[in-house]
Amino acid sequence: MRNAAEIQRRLDEYLQIKADYRIERAEIMSDSDMSADEKRKARYQIDNINRLLNVRIAELRWVLGLEEELAVKESRKRICIGFGEYEGKCQNEADTPWTPYWCSRCDKLRQRYISDQLDKLMNDFAQKSSKILQKMCQRTKGAL
Ligand SMILES: [Zn+2]
Repeated sequence: MRNAAEIQRRLDEYLQIKADYRIERAEIMSDSDMSADEKRKARYQIDNINRLLNVRIAELRWVLGLEEELAVKESRKRICIGFGEYEGKCQNEADTPWTPYWCSRCDKLRQRYISDQLDKLMNDFAQKSSKILQKMCQRTKGAL
């Protein structure tokens, strides 16, 4: 984003100049010492400068947009943080729409792993609950 910062700085500069011209134009128009002809000439000049500034500002904004697009694309090009099943650290580009950290293969592995872990936990929980329920049932029976 080295270029983008420079472009932004110039863009701000042009916008400032444009704002200054707007003030100057208003001052000239309300200046009682200037003749109508002088005012007309000054207004014509300022409006022409303004038009040029607008072209330059539009151009800079367009370039800035391209720069930002490029920067986003570059930042997206990162290597997956996952590990393959057999081949160690993954070297694929991280590019899934779901996560910026994993490639699609590792993301599938990861999600499968999470699902498996959840299944195990749920089974474990079900077994434990049933044991507790069994114990409670025995206690209840014993109290009767
Ligand atoms: Zn990967």
